[in-house]
Amino acid sequence: MNSNQLSQRLKTVADFVGEGETVADIGSDHAYLPCYLVKTNKISNAIAGEVVEGPYQSALKQVKEDELTEHVEVRKGNGLTVLSPGEVTTVTIAGMGGPLISEILENGKNRLEGVQKLILQPNISAISIRQWLLDNGWEIKDEKILEEDRKIYEVILAGRSSERQTLSQQELLLGPVLLKEKSAVFIDKWTNELIQLKKIQNQMERAEASPSLSEKKNQLEQKIIMIEEAIRWNR
Ligand code: SAM
Repeated sequence: MNSNQLSQRLKTVADFVGEGETVADIGSDHAYLPCYLVKTNKISNAIAGEVVEGPYQSALKQVKEDELTEHVEVRKGNGLTVLSPGEVTTVTIAGMGGPLISEILENGKNRLEGVQKLILQPNISAISIRQWLLDNGWEIKDEKILEEDRKIYEVILAGRSSERQTLSQQELLLGPVLLKEKSAVFIDKWTNELIQLKKIQNQMERAEASPSLSEKKNQLEQKIIMIEEAIRWNR
């Protein structure tokens, strides 16, 4: 992967960016995504935010090598604190766990003024992002799921919503758009997840009973039912 040839995962994120948007990529590491977007002329300006020194230096180096210092500004800082309100239209956050992405959004809420689009790619636990979006006036507009190097990734596109979007527990867990589509990758992901959850369920059956265990067993059972119901017709 480099700034000319993105991984399929980052290309899916890039494809959600519209022409002429101004983008901030938070947790940008090598700044491949913003450099790619500018080099392909989709956008003319971007900000790459990075909190860790090593990846921040890699991003600076990449932007210099690509001769894009006029177009991609690399800023060092935690999450959305690198942004001023109104600076960008689109924020991308990719390659982290869902809870960390949600934390970055929650801590930087006040920096999202003027932002119209969030493109989020959690490596795990997309449910925490969906919940955050619903609770904070955003709406899930689209979702993609893909497999690359034997890993499965989800990408969520969110926009501002005038009314609170309502999603069922099943849609929150599996993704409203992905659940409707039921692609082969989606079925694979949740079939594998189901196998893991059933193993945990078996272990729980053998553990000593306690009120907290019984609560966990119930939650797990609900989750298993939601997944089974979603993939049933394919099996
Ligand atoms: N976004 C790139 C991608 O998808 O390929 C890089 C993903 S890399 C696994 C995650 C990056 O996010 C790391 O470089 C890490 O230092 C950075 N990061 C983690 N927490 C962050 C935060 N709160 N603010 C800014 N960057 C953060």
